[in-house]
Order: sequence, then structure tokens, then C-alpha cells
Amino acid sequence: MIKKVDHIGIAVRSLDKALPFYTETLQLPFLGIEEVESQGVKVAFIKAGETKLELLEPTSPESPIAQFIEKRGEGLHHVALGVDSIQERINEMKEKGIRMLQDTPKPGAGGAQVAFMHPKSTGGILYEFCEKKGLK
Ligand code: ZN
Repeated sequence: MIKKVDHIGIAVRSLDKALPFYTETLQLPFLGIEEVESQGVKVAFIKAGETKLELLEPTSPESPIAQFIEKRGEGLHHVALGVDSIQERINEMKEKGIRMLQDTPKPGAGGAQVAFMHPKSTGGILYEFCEKKGLK
């Protein structure tokens, strides 16, 4: 049911400042930048083999990423698990007593459907379920 770690989300203040470490120092391929308006973030994807790194820059002070950086500073934000049938996975987790931040999936970057588990239910880690259907 869980296929792989699809990507790792990293909160940064500035993509311009953060990207050279990944693209120049680590020499990882840059896949592109996308703005996800509903979540108040600009997202840059970096390819790290099978997995991607998702750098998240807040576009407004109300963005959850802005609030995260305010509280904890830049750094690791979430781990995304690639799944099929995301709604079923959400229902299954709820049946198992896991608190979900979304009862139904919402649109994320790259045309994915996403839903997050509450870190209080997972030992302190913000896990994302992420489903990519066909095209994108
Ligand atoms: Zn993510």
C-alpha cells in the first residue's frame, strides 16, 4: 500500500538562497518550481534518485510554512509516502486511531492529491500521503 518515500519536504526562507547547496554543492538535478497558492508556498523539486526533495518557501506570513519557520527555523518539515487510493488510506488510518489533518485529500504540488497525519499520532513526524494519478 505504501510504495516508497515519494519526497521529503524541507522548509526554507528563500529558494534562491537554498537551491545552490542542492544543485551546485550536491549536484542534484533541479526539476522545476511551482507555486501552490492554496498553501501559500513556492515549491522547488530536486531529484535525489528515486526520491525527491521538496523545498518549500512561504509566499505569505500566513502560510503554514512561514509559521513553521517562525517557530522552529528552517529545516526538515515532512516526509511524504507515495500511496495508491489515498482516500482509502485516510479512512484506514482513522480507523486505526490516527489523527489526520485532512479527512479528504487536497491538491498538492505536481498535480498530486495529499493528506497529512498529525505529528501527535506519529511520534513527532509530519507524514504526508501523496497520490499521483496518471498524467502529471
Ligand atoms: Zn510534500
